[in-house]
Amino acid sequence: MVTQGRGLLYGKSALVTGAASGIGRATAELFAREGARLTATDIQSEPLLGLADELRQNGTEVETVIGDVSVEEDARRMIRAAADRFGRLDVLVANAGIIPLGDATEMTAADWDEVMAIDGRGMFLTCKFAIEAMVPTGGGAIVCISSISGLAGQKRQAAYGPAKFVATGLTKHLAVEWADRGIRVNAVAPGTIRTERVKRLPEEPGGSEYLAEIERMHPMGRIGEPAEVATAIAFLASDDASFITGAVLPVDGGFLAQ
Ligand code: NAP
Repeated sequence: MVTQGRGLLYGKSALVTGAASGIGRATAELFAREGARLTATDIQSEPLLGLADELRQNGTEVETVIGDVSVEEDARRMIRAAADRFGRLDVLVANAGIIPLGDATEMTAADWDEVMAIDGRGMFLTCKFAIEAMVPTGGGAIVCISSISGLAGQKRQAAYGPAKFVATGLTKHLAVEWADRGIRVNAVAPGTIRTERVKRLPEEPGGSEYLAEIERMHPMGRIGEPAEVATAIAFLASDDASFITGAVLPVDGGFLAQ
């Protein structure tokens, strides 16, 4: 092990987008326990500021930025806040996203544009500004949150699925582009995870049946928990993954192994 005894991310300046909820929140909580200095960002102010208060009470240094990753100036502001507060940016977790579900007849051009703007352009912008911040300090690690839908086709994901292929593709291209400058870029590909978005599924028409079908489709017979994704993100973000770049790690209860 490279990190002997201390927290896995001890002293690292780490930024998590979409930190107010779900996978991003579990990641921010784990990063804090692992000793990171945290910049937590989200479009939702109240839950983000609540999370930051909790983490500060436990002794973590936390900066917060409210903003929309798909807006260029907001994305730039997030990265700048981390670099200004902690003097550098070591880790970016590009997690913020929306998950609109529907087949090709249900999804509109506006749905396509929205998911591509947030899950696609937003991920590109935060990676771009993070890379610009990491190069002068000798490198860093980026973890993009893709999905099983970014590696294989699914039903009712005609716009969301292609947006997650953007995350997978961006990961591989940026990994190759920046490997010789000390920046590692990896992705996790979660199966279905019990986040707020997934907990709301039963409220949608056909949502309960869809969720039950999804549980059956995971060989472990269940969906995952946000904390189970966060541990994989923390590993890829840490120095323990020092020779891993361009990898897309499924965290999916065996879904993609079928
Ligand atoms: P979540 O619980 O909805 O959390 C995402 C957070 O990001 C929310 O606070 C959300 O705010 C915020 N956000 C949305 N649009 C944003 C924007 N434009 N700028 C900044 N923040 C924004 O979602 P999650 O399930 O944890 O998903 C997180 C990531 O994991 C996404 O990239 C998703 O594609 C991926 N993923 C999720 C699953 C799953 O089963 N949950 C599976 C595979 C991959 P709002 O509440 O206002 O939207």
